[in-house]
Amino acid sequence: MTDYQAPLKQMRFTIEHLVGFEDVKKLPHFDTVDADTVEAVLEEAAKFASGVLAPINWLGDQQGVSVVNDAVQVPAEFADAYTKFCEGGWPGIAGDPDFGGQGLPKTIAVACDEMWAASNVAFALCPELSQGAILAMDRHGTDELKATYLEKLISGQWAGTMCLTEPQAGSDLSSLTSRAEPKGDRYLITGQKIYITWGDHPMAENIIHLVLARLPDAPPGTKGISLFLVPKFKVNADGSIGEPNDNRPVSVEHKMGIHASPTCVLAFGDKGGAEGFLVGKPNEGLAAMFTMMNYMRLGVGVQGVGLADRSYQKSVSYARERVQGRAPGEKGRVAIIRHPDVRRMLLTMRSLTQASRAVCYYTAACLDRANHGDDAEASAFYQARADLLTPIAKAWCTEAALEATTHGIQVHGGMGYVEETGVAQFYRDARIAPIYEGTNAIQAIDLVGRKLLRDGGATVSAFVSDMRAVDAPLANAGDALAVVRSALARGLDELVQSSTYILTAEKKDPELISAVAFNYLMLIGTVIGGWQLARGALVAIEQLAAGGDKAFLEAQVVMARFYAEQVLPRCTGYAAAIRAGSGSMMALSAENF
Ligand SMILES: Cc1cc2nc3c(=O)[nH]c(=O)nc-3n(C[C@H](O)[C@H](O)[C@H](O)COP(=O)(O)OP(=O)(O)OC[C@H]3O[C@@H](n4cnc5c(N)ncnc54)[C@H](O)[C@@H]3O)c2cc1C
Repeated sequence: MTDYQAPLKQMRFTIEHLVGFEDVKKLPHFDTVDADTVEAVLEEAAKFASGVLAPINWLGDQQGVSVVNDAVQVPAEFADAYTKFCEGGWPGIAGDPDFGGQGLPKTIAVACDEMWAASNVAFALCPELSQGAILAMDRHGTDELKATYLEKLISGQWAGTMCLTEPQAGSDLSSLTSRAEPKGDRYLITGQKIYITWGDHPMAENIIHLVLARLPDAPPGTKGISLFLVPKFKVNADGSIGEPNDNRPVSVEHKMGIHASPTCVLAFGDKGGAEGFLVGKPNEGLAAMFTMMNYMRLGVGVQGVGLADRSYQKSVSYARERVQGRAPGEKGRVAIIRHPDVRRMLLTMRSLTQASRAVCYYTAACLDRANHGDDAEASAFYQARADLLTPIAKAWCTEAALEATTHGIQVHGGMGYVEETGVAQFYRDARIAPIYEGTNAIQAIDLVGRKLLRDGGATVSAFVSDMRAVDAPLANAGDALAVVRSALARGLDELVQSSTYILTAEKKDPELISAVAFNYLMLIGTVIGGWQLARGALVAIEQLAAGGDKAFLEAQVVMARFYAEQVLPRCTGYAAAIRAGSGSMMALSAENF
């Protein structure tokens, strides 16, 4: 059985001290959420992840999925785990209580999501997509659609998917061609979608596809896209399952990782049109789908955190056991954890994971405050901050996950490259995260183009001011955190200068945004991560003085110091690359590559 106690301790610390959970709990919507409930949910989630999901992770990787007679087959163990997942009430923990959900804060749900991803990310994708579909339906569906579909989605009896991608329409959805013909109070959908995660499977009784398609009179481009709910099986008036709808899985992709997650080509309307229902307004489907996409973007960041953490835990165990070489002051051969270079990798993994976790959970807490606050001004503030953080959570945390999981392989040496240790699977499973839900380049362009430029840098500036507030307590902490204080201040200066540079230079260079966006995203993510670790170290020093858990708290201080010395200096490189602009990137003709 996988031991989740170490990450659980870190998750609790993050929730209690780094994301403003005290304020979340005070929101009227969450007035019944108490410390005991949170603790019970986290403990039970850890048990489920380690006892049910982790044991079938390797099996799913080896067995994979297939299409037989127009139906996707998954390992029987996955269907069994899904039944247990639903029986445990896990699909609905943050769901709307009006439709059978438990209404817990998203800040707690992300911690559970991290455990599902850490133990079995291929499985986790299925309920996660359902959650995204639920949110989109809740925000944009008619009362009738909600009454028919929400409760069964929230219970997990039915599962959801998101159907955007087509062969010619990936990052650029403007060229999407799936069509929707009105027929009475519904629509007939035709077209082919590719890469649809959990697009078909036998684990749930019905599958509810959220599909982007064009109405006959729709304008071209993204302004002519509408969103439709298309069930796998039609639903009778009494809510029971009816006849099959006109859609089917054509094939599943053979891919590098997440082997047990069926990535489907789906055909809609082979026999004339799959029956669907409009969600939201005509031609405003992309905006409605963004509700689901933003949900999934944070979810993908959390997948990165989970995989990075699993890889770290496994690598620490291996490094403690594997004996190779000698070390100064030691008699005989030593375990590799004794070598500074192995420690460099382990500490990079752990500090990036802790920083990413804090970024994701903080984003979730901002969403809780934005969605459930009763003060409009505060809600708007937290929504703007969550909007800023979402592409960072998705892209920075998944880049961190790749770095962590590749270190995980390296710590294992040759044993990391062979499959039996399982550590290669974490890397293979993590490798999709920077690609799907909008590639990390698309996230970075969104961050710079929409979140930084649109308000003239105001949201970033407000966040920088908040982050600078940690300087005074760091100064009070004296020598223990002096390096953290100076590295964070330097990182914040680089962030301010880079923001100012982009805000001014962008007007003169139409290529600038795309040229600098990725480095800007890495810069701001690295700084936010450093800020969170610094705050963690401050809390730890206070708790140490009060006689808290010495080993755990000392590790918080060391993690902030290590990150300040070894990771935050990257900010100088990102900033230099940003200031270099687009010059050399655009210097070669396409033929000259
Ligand atoms: C395993 C898997 C699961 C998936 N699940 C789903 C799903 O459930 N539902 C769904 O609808 N889709 C899904 N997708 C599709 C996924 O979201 C797309 O693959 C992704 O958005 C990228 O699109 P693309 O593959 O067409 O790449 P492209 O858009 O062709 O991009 C190729 C490269 O060009 C870059 N690029 C493209 N445009 C720009 C630009 N304007 N500026 C800078 N760089 C650019 C990209 O960053 C990338 O590096 C999944 C894909 C995979 C592989």
